[in-house]
Amino acid sequence: MANTDIEKGSEHPIMLRLKNLKKYFPTSRGTVKAVDGISLNVFKGETLALVGESGSGKTTTAHVILGRYIATEGSVLYKNIEIGHMPLIKRPLWLRREIQIVFQDPATSLNPKKTVKDIIEVAIKIHYPKLSKLDRVERLLELLRYVGLTEDFLFKLPGELGGGEKQLVALARALATDPKFLILDEPTSALDVSAQSKILKTLLNIQRDRRLSYILITHDLAVVRNISHRVAVMYLGKIVEKAPTEELFSNPLHPYTRMLLSSIPTLTEEESKLLPKGIESTGEIASAINPPPGCRFHPRCPYAMDICKKMEPPDINVSKGSKVRIVKCWLYAEESKTKL
Ligand code: SF4
Repeated sequence: MANTDIEKGSEHPIMLRLKNLKKYFPTSRGTVKAVDGISLNVFKGETLALVGESGSGKTTTAHVILGRYIATEGSVLYKNIEIGHMPLIKRPLWLRREIQIVFQDPATSLNPKKTVKDIIEVAIKIHYPKLSKLDRVERLLELLRYVGLTEDFLFKLPGELGGGEKQLVALARALATDPKFLILDEPTSALDVSAQSKILKTLLNIQRDRRLSYILITHDLAVVRNISHRVAVMYLGKIVEKAPTEELFSNPLHPYTRMLLSSIPTLTEEESKLLPKGIESTGEIASAINPPPGCRFHPRCPYAMDICKKMEPPDINVSKGSKVRIVKCWLYAEESKTKL
């Protein structure tokens, strides 16, 4: 079910643009550089996956977009409006309506004492206070049906629902404000395989019907392959590779991307033959307080050269045709010179 039915490129309006975004946290042990100068675009109607190990900065990036953290430097432009320095509480209602999040664990994101009706209705009340009670209930039922639930769920408590049903309720609540941009934070990692597949199908249908843009944060590379159009790979606060999904999986360039892909679990020998060879998953991500100099991946990289330990690699454009592909690695510096 690879999500390839949309061509990415400049003809699609940009919904979100991060420019040299930094988010630092001062601590008693030093400054944590959780996000350290990342740039990317998310187009209307596309899914951009942010992948990387824990501590790579994915979730911090999402929280800056949502206004839960204020950017230290750089910008977050949503529909060309700077929002990176605007805390959630100061954001206008239309903006809070348009950018929503679906959390990893619906069991903790839904109030266990509220019924499904209460959970969804409160979002409708806050964002559409002028709707009559009748219109509110109608909207509520429409949302439930839209995510594949029936009105039998209206008066159930979260504890009476399965994991997939809870996540569908969370999705209906996020859709209650008619968002244009959804951040999906590990939306399927707490679910069994059949619930995962239902949620992914629902997300694809919603995107097709409403042309929503998604940022998908996940460790699950099979999910990335199934529903994202493009992927940005993060390592220690930096984006090290950006590529269309199919290209990233068929020909990963950055040694860290290859390491991540080589650790995907496989069921058959044929599948394992398709995984990138030559780089095993070794070591652990370093601390973001004192990141290694030069290329931050160099202590774990089997291809590290002298220059890697001293100088940070630039973003190297290795695009072929109209599909933009960027890799941050000295191995490709020569290739970029010959292209110029
Ligand atoms: Fe490895 Fe050097 Fe590339 Fe970093 S820049 S990934 S250390 S080869």
